[in-house]
This record gives sequence, structure tokens and C-alpha cells, in this order.
Amino acid sequence: MSMMKAAVFVEPGRIELADKPIPDVGPNDALIRITTTTICGTDVHILKGEYPVAKGLTVGHEPVGVIEKLGSAVQGYTEGQRVIAGAICPNFNSYAAQDGVASQDGSYLIASGRCGCHGYKATAGWRFGNMIDGTQAEYVLVPDAQANLAPIPDGLSDEQVLMCPDIMSTGFKGAENANIRIGDVVAVFAQGPIGLCATAGARLLGASTIIAVDGNEHRLQIAKAMGADVVLNFRNCDVVDEIMKLTGGRGVDSSIEALGTQGTFESALRILKPGGTLSSLGVYSEDLKIPLAAFASGLGDHRINTALCPGGKERMRRLMNVVASGRADFGALVTHHYALDDIVAAYDLFSHQRDGVLKIAIKPGP
Ligand SMILES: [Zn+2]
Repeated sequence: MSMMKAAVFVEPGRIELADKPIPDVGPNDALIRITTTTICGTDVHILKGEYPVAKGLTVGHEPVGVIEKLGSAVQGYTEGQRVIAGAICPNFNSYAAQDGVASQDGSYLIASGRCGCHGYKATAGWRFGNMIDGTQAEYVLVPDAQANLAPIPDGLSDEQVLMCPDIMSTGFKGAENANIRIGDVVAVFAQGPIGLCATAGARLLGASTIIAVDGNEHRLQIAKAMGADVVLNFRNCDVVDEIMKLTGGRGVDSSIEALGTQGTFESALRILKPGGTLSSLGVYSEDLKIPLAAFASGLGDHRINTALCPGGKERMRRLMNVVASGRADFGALVTHHYALDDIVAAYDLFSHQRDGVLKIAIKPGP
């Protein structure tokens, strides 16, 4: 049996490199040889034990690679082709997909009796590095390959499309979920990689004043390059006061929350105009409290939308088209390069946000 290297969850605080068998390819699968992958903030939640996954699971959910082997029923692709697949890798045959929310398929857990109603794994539709082996490895098995594999357009580098599987798809969904219209005022809370993509997405959708909030000056400077008109450092000002002043007391049309904390969620609600939309992207680790006044006692015609990264080959095709067209450039988000062999050091750097890190390109090859 041939073996491969893979980064696996061992126990809280430990993700380590291990040898695992290269998976067998079923009729609807494809085996992808990973050329570049990366670490996500969600992987850090897994590392810390804040988000439970099975011991021995290969982590990571952002694949860029080459088709090594195609299942017998997968048509329209060739072995050797460069592809990506969405981070969630949805099952497009599921009830959830036919209901219009492909990423929310919970059939794994319903079948096993471990449904989300006990607060365990509400995000069961997310497969790579959550329910099945993920992408921080030499190879990954992509199920439902015909629905999930998206060929990379000629001329685009791995680094240029590395944000498409998760960061761009999630960040842009945050902007799409914010119901942005041409001329809107939009605030984006937190300018990590996903928040930066939400800022860029708000610009692409026609927002005319984008207010980016973070506590890190370096990230705020990148936010400007991504389309923010105003940047606010929460360490230097009262963000809610400042935004209410900027909008003449009216509040913003839309606010996007991209961190997953009580503070950012609450601020995003406090600055929202009556009738506005709060689009939430963060992964929360605790119960949220909704302040009564900001919520207008429930009478504010507010909309609160949440999202899990959309996937599928059509979503990926569109995102890569944004990159190919030059409408947005996320190359600047890749700040570091590491070999898969050095994944433990990469996690250490990323989880402590040292050295201005935004995203790390991880490469199994030489
Ligand atoms: Zn992620």
C-alpha cells in the first residue's frame, strides 16, 4: 500500500505530520495531488480543541492541485489537469442541496444519530478536514468529484487561486448576504483574510462607502488596498460612536461581522440602520447576547444573515473568473510559504499571528 504524509489532529494543542495510506478512488471520487494548500482560522479552532474533530483526521480544507486519478463515473475532466475544489465540498445529491443550501447537508450526522440539536457539529455539511480527511496532505480524495472539481484557467498560479476554495467564497458570500446596493454604506468588522475578502466583495457589489474595522494597522492598510474608504482602529476610537458620526446618525445600510465574537457582533448591530442587514461570517465559540436597544426590541426590520462557505464547481469557476479578470487581486494575502514537512511551525506562526501573517501557502512538493 502506498503511503503519503498528512497533517492530522492528534489531541487539543497537537496537529502533527503522520503517514497515512493514499486513499482508494471510488467511482464518483477523484484523487488530487495537492500542490498548494493553506491553514484557515477554523483549523486553529480545531488545533485548540474548540471545534471537535475525530482523532487522526487529516485537517485542512483549501485544495489546489492536480488530478492524479479519476473515478470511473467522473466525466469531463482529465488526469493531470490543475483543479481546485470548494472547502466544504458539498454533496449535491443531498436534500440540503436541493433545498438551495448545498453546504448544509447534515445527512452524515442524521444517519449516525449525532445530529446538531445537541450543539454538536452544526456544520455537518462541511466535509474536508471536518467529516472526511482534508487537504493538508500530499493527496486528498474529493467525493462527488464531478460537482466539485473546478479546472484552473491557464495562466493563474496556485497562489492566485488559493483563496477561492474558502476565503473568497466565504468573504464574498458575506458581502452577497449583506444585500448591498450601489451607493450603500457598509461596515466590515475584522480584517483578517475573510474580512478583507468581504471588503473587496462589498466594493465589487457597488458599496460607495466602506468602513473597515480592526485593531491591527497592517491589516487596515491592506483593507484600503482592498477597497475600504475609511479604516477605524478600535484601539484608538469608539467604533460605534465614530460610525454613527460618519453616517450623520443614520447608521450603515449593511454591516458585515467577520470574527465571531460578542463584541464585533454587538457593534455590527448597534451601527445598523432600521431596515439594514447584518451579515455574520464569524465562527462563534460562545452564546451570543442581543442588546435590546440595538435590536429595536425586535421591531427594527433588521435582517440577520449567516453563512457557511458556498462550494461547487460553478461557484469556484466564478471566483477564479474574478481573479482572472483582474477585478480583485488577493495575491497580497499570501504572506508566507512553508513546506508541508514544516506544518507544525506554520501552525505556530499562524495561530500566534506573528510576522504580519495573513495566509501561508503550504506545499507538499519540493
Ligand atoms: Zn476555512
